[in-house]
Amino acid sequence: MDIRRHYNLELLRNRGLELVLDRMGALMDARHDFCTCEQCILDLIAYSLNQVTPLYSTSLLEPFKPNPELARRVGLEIELALEEGLKRIARHPNHEEGGDESRT
Ligand SMILES: [Zn+2]
Repeated sequence: MDIRRHYNLELLRNRGLELVLDRMGALMDARHDFCTCEQCILDLIAYSLNQVTPLYSTSLLEPFKPNPELARRVGLEIELALEEGLKRIARHPNHEEGGDESRT
């Protein structure tokens, strides 16, 4: 059975991704010391999501209310993951030479 064909998987929501994107957006508004080309930003998202506790949910209509301890822990994980991810990507970027310039 192919689950993808029988169920609407778009109802699965990755709250961790939403939190990472919110935090990254704020970081990109506040700092300009890292490459913001598509490759580097997608690498940073992927790296961070692999570090952060998964937070999938299926209730699309309800607001996201994890318990406060979990929310605090995941917030911290995201901060650490983004910092580490920025360092790693700066050391070993996957973009083409001069990738940043072509996007600005
Ligand atoms: Zn880049």
